[in-house]
Amino acid sequence: MESCIFCRIVEKELQSKIAYEDEEVVAFHDINPQAPIHVLIVPRKHIPTLNEATEEERSLLGKLMLVAQKLAKELGTAESGYRIVLNTNKDAGQSVFHIHLHLLGGRSFRWPPG
Ligand code: AMP
Repeated sequence: MESCIFCRIVEKELQSKIAYEDEEVVAFHDINPQAPIHVLIVPRKHIPTLNEATEEERSLLGKLMLVAQKLAKELGTAESGYRIVLNTNKDAGQSVFHIHLHLLGGRSFRWPPG
């Protein structure tokens, strides 16, 4: 998807601060961080929202979580705590329609979220 900003980051057409990448997943620091640690974990495959994910993506979706866990450890927030967020559509405030996990850490978070 040429017009998708995260596809362009994955393809390195747009610059980002990469935290992790492999053949299926890319993670990069959020341009507008909401916490001291704010990394986005995205599949290379373009999936607009969680609603479009299928059984075919079962292991890919699991992998996103394991990459989040790995980065939380590497970035030093695994023990103090962190939050994983996956916004879906309007009411959740999704603004980029290429599925992504937010890994947020380095401060405490409230519950319920706003
Ligand atoms: P969401 O609202 O869940 O769709 O999250 C989209 C996130 O992408 C927001 O936190 C933005 O700050 C972030 N974002 C948008 N453009 C870029 C970019 N070029 N590089 C890094 N993060 C971005």
